[in-house]
Amino acid sequence: MQVDYLIVGLGLAGLAFSKELEKNNKSFIVFEDHSQNSSIVAGGMYNPVILKRFTPVWNAIEQLEIALPFYAELEKQFNKKYNYPIDIYRVFKSVQEQNNWFIASDKPLLANYMIPQLINNKYEGVLANFGFGKLTNTGRIDTRILLENYRNYLNNKDLIKNESFNYSQLLINKNDVEYKNVKASKIVFCEGFGLVKNPFFNYLPMQEAKGELITIHAPNLNVDFLIKAAVFVLPLGDNYYKVGATFNWKDKTTHPSAEGRQELESKLESFITVPYKIVEQTAGIRPTVKDRRPLVGKHPTHTNLAVLNGLGTRGVMIAPIAAKVLYNNLENDKALDKEISIARFK
Ligand SMILES: Cc1cc2nc3c(=O)[nH]c(=O)nc-3n(C[C@H](O)[C@H](O)[C@H](O)COP(=O)(O)OP(=O)(O)OC[C@H]3O[C@@H](n4cnc5c(N)ncnc54)[C@H](O)[C@@H]3O)c2cc1C
Repeated sequence: MQVDYLIVGLGLAGLAFSKELEKNNKSFIVFEDHSQNSSIVAGGMYNPVILKRFTPVWNAIEQLEIALPFYAELEKQFNKKYNYPIDIYRVFKSVQEQNNWFIASDKPLLANYMIPQLINNKYEGVLANFGFGKLTNTGRIDTRILLENYRNYLNNKDLIKNESFNYSQLLINKNDVEYKNVKASKIVFCEGFGLVKNPFFNYLPMQEAKGELITIHAPNLNVDFLIKAAVFVLPLGDNYYKVGATFNWKDKTTHPSAEGRQELESKLESFITVPYKIVEQTAGIRPTVKDRRPLVGKHPTHTNLAVLNGLGTRGVMIAPIAAKVLYNNLENDKALDKEISIARFK
């Protein structure tokens, strides 16, 4: 069997690259072994403002210009809703923070998102003595359902192998690669934190961060926006809310932990006073890089091997543009921006 591409991993990176191939009429086979689940558990938020410092997220506007039409196209393809626009209310901790908000909201890049107005707290069960800053044009992608739908679609077309990719069985020829009974011009690795097991690319400096989330049922919490304080509280509908997320730089497992749950509960209770019940706890590992930029490009010696990884804490916004840029690099020799090219790591 002969295809244009092999793809290893079907998280947001693998999905975005597969879509790019489909759009360009390239054939491919995906390998997926469910060893990682960052994209499935993710909060799925897109937001171009760093909520700690009120500064713009790196390249956010360019990313959103590609990402929003990308998800809209998938909604059309599967006749499903994935994009849920939702405002974000950032709880202010002090007058100083209120002032910083007003200064930041005046900057041209952020003016479309940060509302230059203090929102007073009138919400039952929410502690916010200094009020809120409101962000708009932000939202959530339902990554879990999107990936489920896309995986089923690939399954029906026989384009996915639900098995672990075994690196030792990859044959690298001058102009193509062979894996078991499949020949391909190129292979793109999109394994998220699974990259650490990839003998071709595990020299890249990943600084992965485990994240945990809980889903709560809180019938008395009547908010239809995301609240960001010590953690975020994201409405899912029917009085369910996703609460997250932790950052743990040591634990490399994808299992939910008692410590993670305790941390989330204690942070949640620092600003939410209504009763709630935890109905789910999930965990995943964010494929974060030392310099907080994606990992994109060809292997330094085996040029038919490429990587698409390092999406860190913002896979929803970065994956579509990074996939496009990688495709243009592989097929049209378009140079990669130094900031994202893996050539920055020798
Ligand atoms: C708790 C948490 C909350 C988050 N919230 C947000 C958010 O609100 N907004 C946002 O934009 N981002 C968020 N993120 C980050 C986002 O999830 C990641 O940036 C993104 O999912 C990474 O996608 P990926 O495809 O690179 O990796 P992954 O999602 O990890 O996908 C890699 C895939 O490769 C597969 N794989 C690995 N090795 C192999 C192998 N050898 N053979 C076959 N298959 C293999 C894995 O099973 C997996 O499916 C969050 C992450 C976490 C953990």
